[in-house]
Amino acid sequence: MRSKIVAGNWKMNKTYHEMEILLGELEAKVPDTEAEIMVAPSFVNLPRAFMMLESSVIEPIAQNMHFAESGAYTGEVSADMLLGIGIETVILGHSERRSIFGETDDVLAKKVVAALAKNLRVVFCFGEELEDRKSDNHFNIVADQLTKGLFNLEADAWKNIVLAYEPVWAIGTGETASPEQAQEMHAFIRKAISDKYDATIADNVSILYGGSVKPANAAEIFSKPDVDGGLIGGASLNADDFMAIVKAI
Ligand code: PEP
Repeated sequence: MRSKIVAGNWKMNKTYHEMEILLGELEAKVPDTEAEIMVAPSFVNLPRAFMMLESSVIEPIAQNMHFAESGAYTGEVSADMLLGIGIETVILGHSERRSIFGETDDVLAKKVVAALAKNLRVVFCFGEELEDRKSDNHFNIVADQLTKGLFNLEADAWKNIVLAYEPVWAIGTGETASPEQAQEMHAFIRKAISDKYDATIADNVSILYGGSVKPANAAEIFSKPDVDGGLIGGASLNADDFMAIVKAI
C-alpha cells in the first residue's frame, strides 16, 4: 500500500525565528490523519526544525543535497551532513534547481544514487514546461525525465522513492493542472514504471502532485486515484492553509 503524503517546500523563506513560529502553529493545528506530513525548511534551519519536531508526526526534510561524499564544493551540503542532523528525506530535482541552478538530468541521477546509497528517502520532482504542454510534448518530456533520472535504479531502490509531478507552468503561478490533467499524467507515470519494472513497484510508489495546490482545490485534486498527495509551495508557508490541505487528503 502506498502512503499518502503532504509535503511543504518552504524554499528560501522563513528566518530562524519565523520558522519557530510556523512550526509551533503547525504543531498546534496538525489533524489526526494517516497521511505523512513533511516540511522542508532551509538548510540553516533544519537542525532546529529537527529538534522542535522530534516527537511530532511532522517530518523535517531537506530541499536539496550534493552528490559527492565530501570535498571542495563550496556552499553545498552532503548526504552525511543531512544524516548527521537526523534528516531522513531529501527533495531532489525541483524545477527551481533545474532551471535556476542548472541541474541537469545527469546531475540529478547522480544525486538520487548518492542519496539512496545512504538510505535517504528521495522526493524526486519533475514536470514539463508550458511550451511542452502547448506543443503536446508533455508526456515525452516527463518520460524522458523519469528515464534519465530514475530508470537506472534497481527495482529494490524504489521503496525509497516518492515522485512529485510538478508541471512547471503551475508552480507559483496560481494556475493549477485540472484534476483530470493531474490524474492523466499520474496514470501515465505509473504505467511507465510498470512497463519498466513491474506493476507492484508502480502500485507502491506514491506520486504527489505539485503546482498551486491550495485549500480550495486540494480535495478535488487528491480525490483522483493516482494522486497520492501534494508537494506544496506557497500555501505551506501558512499554518491554516497547509493544515487545510493536509485535512483534504
Ligand atoms: C513547488 O514549488 O513545489 C510548488 C508546488 O509551489 P506552489 O505550490 O507555490 O505552486
